[in-house]
Amino acid sequence: MPRGRFAPTPSGEMHIGNARTALLAWLQVRSAGGQFILRMEDIDRPRSKPALARQIIEDLRWLGLDWDEGPDIGGPYGPYTQSERLDLYEQAAARLDAKGLLYPCYCSRAELNAIASAPHGLASEGPVYPGLCRGLTNAERAVKAARKAPSLRFTVPDHLLTYEDQALGMQSLKAGAGGDFIIKRADGIFSYQLAVVIDDAAMQISDVLRGSDLLDSTPRQLLLYEALGYQTPRFTHVPLLVEPDGSRLAKRSGALSLRALREAGVLPERIIGALASISGLHDRVEPIHARELVSEFSLSKIPDKPVIVDADWLSKL
Ligand code: GLU
Repeated sequence: MPRGRFAPTPSGEMHIGNARTALLAWLQVRSAGGQFILRMEDIDRPRSKPALARQIIEDLRWLGLDWDEGPDIGGPYGPYTQSERLDLYEQAAARLDAKGLLYPCYCSRAELNAIASAPHGLASEGPVYPGLCRGLTNAERAVKAARKAPSLRFTVPDHLLTYEDQALGMQSLKAGAGGDFIIKRADGIFSYQLAVVIDDAAMQISDVLRGSDLLDSTPRQLLLYEALGYQTPRFTHVPLLVEPDGSRLAKRSGALSLRALREAGVLPERIIGALASISGLHDRVEPIHARELVSEFSLSKIPDKPVIVDADWLSKL
């Protein structure tokens, strides 16, 4: 049975772009009779806020998007929460380390940013790591360790990875493009890359549908699936909703947060209807309930280019 998930990071309010991703991920598995999971990706504790996690849950329920399992919190299921799963990440990091795939890195962010020549690999994660600590001898490590706690990096092989994306088609991605990436930060926080793979594997997720802004993380995650011997899910990266100038919707002011829309009296069916029409899932803009879209859902209807959210569309909310 297909299993999908929505995995928000509770570091900001949910906006209509996130709502669209959640809707599409939910429809993808619901239309195939599958199960859906909600996972709070609060692995970066300092950036995450419990109040925002509660609000995301409220937003999803308000939109009519439900999930099938999770911790029993008395009533509907709670979400799975990464900060409660640290033992799993610790065990996985130990397995990678035992295979000789990790090494300690003593570089600070400031030092790396100062290497002016480093090209940007992953938009989301700054300069490509130039491998400075990859070949350190034990003696060199001991000297550095006396001054600074290390992060742990994954040794990325320099080969091509291919996979078939359900939305974008065949993808060939250079594994090494982003350089060796962090598995555990110097402050002890496990990386998104590790946690997301461990959780998707543990939760037996067969279908990962997410925004195409995360496409550049996929090679890293494929490498982790391979290294840990887990079966790779099907990936679907959907083009984002964007501002008329092409910039990310996430940068827009709070006006498009679901909380703000709800407080302004906008009904959830209007938001679902507007998102369905802009995503090619329904031919008219009209209020509609998410469950009414299940039978007509097809991934092939989703536009293969970023979708511009303009004033005209917003006026329909
Ligand atoms: N937590 C990630 C985010 O909110 C999404 C993770 C994923 O879908 O793989 O950007």
